[in-house]
Amino acid sequence: MIIAANFKMNHTRKTTKEYIKKLKKFKDLDSLKIYVFPPSTALDRFDTTINIGAQNAYPAVSGSFTGEIGLEQLNEFNIKTIIIGHSERRHILNETQEFITKKFNFFKENNFTIFYCIGETSKIRESKNTFEYLNEQLIGVDLNYENLILAYEPVWAIGTGKSAKKEDIEEVLEFLSKKTSNPILYGGSVNPSNIKEILSIKNCSGALIGSASLNVEKFCEMINIAKESRC
Ligand code: PEP
Repeated sequence: MIIAANFKMNHTRKTTKEYIKKLKKFKDLDSLKIYVFPPSTALDRFDTTINIGAQNAYPAVSGSFTGEIGLEQLNEFNIKTIIIGHSERRHILNETQEFITKKFNFFKENNFTIFYCIGETSKIRESKNTFEYLNEQLIGVDLNYENLILAYEPVWAIGTGKSAKKEDIEEVLEFLSKKTSNPILYGGSVNPSNIKEILSIKNCSGALIGSASLNVEKFCEMINIAKESRC
C-alpha cells in the first residue's frame, strides 16, 4: 500500500523538516510505502526510510532552463522519485503530452520511480469521453516500466473537497488495471473520512493526497487507517 503526500506550493524548508521529523516518530511506517513530495526549495537528504520525491523537474541533467531544476539538483539530495503529468502542470502550466512524455522518458532512463498522473476534466466526464481522454494521456508512456506508479486523479476532484464516487473510481481503476500491472493510486480530495472506502476499492494500491496531507497529524491519521485496511 502506497500513501503519498503532495505539498504542492505549500510548506517551507523549515516546516518540511519539522513535518518529516514528526512523521519519522510515527510507529510502524515500514508496513506501508510512504512518499512525501515537498516543494523543490525544501528538498534535502532526510535521514529516513520515508521516500522523498520531487514534484517536478526539467528533463535534463543541467543547463540553461531558467527557474527549473534538473537531474544534477536532484542527485545532490539522492532524490529518485518524481511526479509527472500532474493536472496542475497540464492545465495551469500548459504542459503538453509531448513534453510530459519527454520528461517520462528522461526520468525512466535515469531509473526514477515515476508517479504518473492522469485524470479527466468535468467537461470530459460529462461528455462521456473519459476513457478516450485517459488513453490520450497515456500516449508515449511505458506502462510496463517497473518503477511506474500510476495515479488516477480526476481534475474536478482535486482540491475541491469533492472526491469521485466509489463506483466511478472503481470503473476507471478496472480500465487501467487491464493496461498495467503496476500499482494504481487514486487522488482527489482524499481525507481521513473517505480514505478507508477509497482504499477498499478493487485495484486501488493507495492514495496520492494533496490538501489533507499538509497537516502531519492528519496525514498520520490517514496512514493509520491505511495500515488497518485491505492491501
Ligand atoms: C493532488 O494534488 O495530487 C491531490 C490529489 O490534491 P487534493 O488531495 O488536495 O485533492
